[in-house]
Amino acid sequence: MSLYKDQAIKIYNSLTKEKEPFNPIHEGAVGMYVCGPTVYSNVHMGNCRTFLSFDLVFRYLKHLGFKVRYVRNITDAGHLENDGESGDDPILKKARIEQLEPMEVVQKYTVDFHETMAKFNALPPSIEPTATGHIYEQIAIVENLITEGYGYEKNGSVYFDVIKFNEDHAYGKLSGRKLEDMITNTRELAAQSEKKNPQDFALWKKAEPQHIMRWPSPWSEGFPGWHLECTAMSTKYLGENFDIHGGGMDLKFPHHECEIAQAEACNHKSPVNYWMHANMLTLNGKKMSKSTGNNILPGELFSGKNNALGRTFTPSVAKFFMYQAHYRSILDFSNEALEASEKGFNRLFDAYHSLSSIEPSAKSSSSISEWKQSCYDAMNDDFNSPILIAQLFEATKFINALKDGNATITREDLEELSATMKAFLFDVLGLEDTTASGDKSVEKLDGAISLLIELRNQARANKDFATSDKIRDELQEVGIQLKDGKDGTTYSLV
Ligand code: AMP
Ligand code: ZN
Repeated sequence: MSLYKDQAIKIYNSLTKEKEPFNPIHEGAVGMYVCGPTVYSNVHMGNCRTFLSFDLVFRYLKHLGFKVRYVRNITDAGHLENDGESGDDPILKKARIEQLEPMEVVQKYTVDFHETMAKFNALPPSIEPTATGHIYEQIAIVENLITEGYGYEKNGSVYFDVIKFNEDHAYGKLSGRKLEDMITNTRELAAQSEKKNPQDFALWKKAEPQHIMRWPSPWSEGFPGWHLECTAMSTKYLGENFDIHGGGMDLKFPHHECEIAQAEACNHKSPVNYWMHANMLTLNGKKMSKSTGNNILPGELFSGKNNALGRTFTPSVAKFFMYQAHYRSILDFSNEALEASEKGFNRLFDAYHSLSSIEPSAKSSSSISEWKQSCYDAMNDDFNSPILIAQLFEATKFINALKDGNATITREDLEELSATMKAFLFDVLGLEDTTASGDKSVEKLDGAISLLIELRNQARANKDFATSDKIRDELQEVGIQLKDGKDGTTYSLV
């Protein structure tokens, strides 16, 4: 269904700083690239917020019937500390500390990232390319940049000449930084560097002897600069000019600025039509971050094991909490805010469940179609999830009035209301029903115990009393009591 034909999306473009009508390059299809994680530690809730912000965009575009190719990379090489310019490679550092192969570090935290995203019910991207899998493409870009006159080699490393680029392009247009200001701020650093100018950034780095992750290149055995992988992979899978590029706000400079410079210098065109930046999740008013330790891990949230949290919260409640803020607003994480979200979440799902017991009786229709469109309007307005959720709460009030007999509804409207609630709660917001009435764990427990009772009966029939007693006793130990009666065996929770 091409719902998108009836909906007019606007996206806030960080490049123009305006909300612009969204017109994809190819009708009905969207290409979206989002910078993925650097896999040397567990993702924290801040990282999750950014990835969930783009999951919402992905889900909504799909819901509207767009064919979306969503590319999100894994940074598993070439990302040095200090914005990729100097210092240690964090993956190698972690490998030394944990006494692992660098690729073991990468694997461990990639798996953690995938498991976390699955717990949040985030959809996997269409392509998830790795930096190490695209060294060839990155070397080709460096060669191209040298040919174009924007890359220069020094002692086996290659740098991007920002001053040269700025002569015929505008460097700094995304972040709003002026090259002249940057030059005065960093002049004193220039002397110790191989770079012509401190603003130049690495395209290829010659590896020091102790650097394990290294590849041959025309310049040296080394590794690619951090910004290069996103240019290489977005171009390869989405083309030289594509629709949407996303990432966290902190990637605007230097990462995305450098991506723009590389792509424009290579391909002579602007790579991205809509730049989207998700704002930060804070803890105690400060940005959650890996390096400062000011963060909460998803695992700590689900288990309640963190000083900042009084108790556990489900992934869906945490996600709902995040979506109650717009992706471009800063959001502070706190126990109180999560508890408030949990109440709202339960109210919403309780109302959703009660829809199935409402009998349609009205003759004339209510304004469900208008309400439905206002849900779309919210999402069309730069993916405004808090307004969408406010609209779902409006519906909750109406459903409760229906339940209490204070309002009536036609069969058609009831169907439209149910279908719309379902679409937005599950398809668009990607929530999972973890409320008591939606919880299937009782049914699952019932099924599992019935199976154990059956196995126990078989054991008894075979005179294998060791097994039948073991089943009874160990169930008793975990608080499940079996009772043998004339109609068979039943159980109770003790
Ligand atoms: P990294 O693995 O450090 O490259 O981060 C992965 C993604 O998480 C990037 O898009 C960052 O911008 C984003 N990010 C990092 N910290 C936060 C935060 N506190 N809140 C929201 N997003 C964040
Ligand atoms: Zn990137």
